[in-house]
Amino acid sequence: MAFALKGVAYITGAGSGIGQYAAYSLARQGVRSFALLDRNSVSNTASELKKIAPDVSVLELELDVASEDAVNNSVDQTVKKFGRLDYALNNAGIGGALKTTDQIPKDDFERVLSVNTTGVWLCQRAQIRQMLTQDKLRDSPRSYRGSIVNTASMYGILGPSLNVPSTAYATSKHAVIGLTRADAIAFAPKGIKINALCPGYVATPLVMSSMNVGSVMDDERVKVPVQRLATMEEIGDCVSFLHSEASSYMIGASLVADGGFTIQ
Ligand code: NAD
Repeated sequence: MAFALKGVAYITGAGSGIGQYAAYSLARQGVRSFALLDRNSVSNTASELKKIAPDVSVLELELDVASEDAVNNSVDQTVKKFGRLDYALNNAGIGGALKTTDQIPKDDFERVLSVNTTGVWLCQRAQIRQMLTQDKLRDSPRSYRGSIVNTASMYGILGPSLNVPSTAYATSKHAVIGLTRADAIAFAPKGIKINALCPGYVATPLVMSSMNVGSVMDDERVKVPVQRLATMEEIGDCVSFLHSEASSYMIGASLVADGGFTIQ
């Protein structure tokens, strides 16, 4: 175990992909208490976690992160079961259609923002309110009352490429970086660490299913300097790093894990 994490994790979008592998990484680093949230079932993730560490305790919650009451209630339930909330990953997200502004209906645009941006804000607000009430895990300048990671994207930094006109998605992820910075500044003095994670293309089942030879996604893959997609394990480990004391002086950072895509 590189990071020896102790405490309670709360992960949205934990039923699939990056959220799932972040949970596995945190369990390998020592976390034993998990609130797993998703609009779909998280039971697969919970079963896998028990294989990694039989003594894990899991709270499984099915909810829409765009619902204010459901989000507030989920933090209450987490604290009721585990007593505190140390490591939050606000990760649930949707891609939306690959469309330019002239082609997007208003409802579609707003739905992407309501999940990817407002959903992160709702979760972060409820987490901050809880973290402000709890002590640090240990009495050290490198320890915080709580750590929050928001999954943005390299498309929170870059505009989408001409081939992949994900207008609503890029807008929502740029906003996640702005939200991360604003709250990181406001709450660092109060002992809360908040950062964003910006993955490039990750080999999740959804991305892999669109990776046919000659497809738009296949064209994107060859633009990645390392010439491969990120594994879900690699991105999960970035989450553990951002929650660990190894990143204790990182505040409001946008940690880019993209195989070199954005530096071109
Ligand atoms: P995924 O589809 O495998 O997982 C996303 C999870 O979020 C799913 O389990 C889904 O059910 C859940 N979810 C979606 N909307 C929700 C809602 N309203 N309420 C609760 N849960 C909801 O996708 P992923 O690739 O693991 O994506 C996770 C995050 O990483 C997203 O924010 C995504 O934008 C971001 N991201 C992904 C990539 C990539 O290449 N896969 C790259 C950069 C950023």
